[in-house]
Amino acid sequence: MDEEPILDSMLGWLARWLRMLGVHAIYSPSFNDESLLSINHLLITRDRELFRKRSLPTLLLETSIHEEWLSISSLILGTQLVINMDRSLCPICGSKLVKVGREAVVSKVPRSVLLRHDSFWLCTGCGKVYWVGSHHMRIGKELEIARYILSRLKASCVGNNLLIIHNN
Ligand SMILES: [Zn+2]
Repeated sequence: MDEEPILDSMLGWLARWLRMLGVHAIYSPSFNDESLLSINHLLITRDRELFRKRSLPTLLLETSIHEEWLSISSLILGTQLVINMDRSLCPICGSKLVKVGREAVVSKVPRSVLLRHDSFWLCTGCGKVYWVGSHHMRIGKELEIARYILSRLKASCVGNNLLIIHNN
């Protein structure tokens, strides 16, 4: 089975976050159920019906709390809930990022940003530019919540192929 998880169309938020954490999350809002049934990757889904029909490894997220999605996925995927820009992938398209200097992004970011930062990351796929700015405070807060939830998760095995994870 391939390592990269596939996320169903309801999990765009989770795909963006997992990519920021360096996970090669495969996501397309246009995957249909037919292809999701047979695809040989770990499937992460919100769709109970799809979960029931799948015979391949599947993670069903029954909660609607986004930080819980992140905690549970990180537990299953063995991903650390910490941002490391050198490992991060583009949240939009999932491609690799390369670190570049100010001169490489002069025409691509606002002047005020250019003046305040000297490290930038350029997406090798879609060309979007990233930097560690004030929005990273918010990202850090969100990850702190997810880490707290992770520390309280309990897992129990039912039968021999169903693992139930719940928040204590
Ligand atoms: Zn990109």
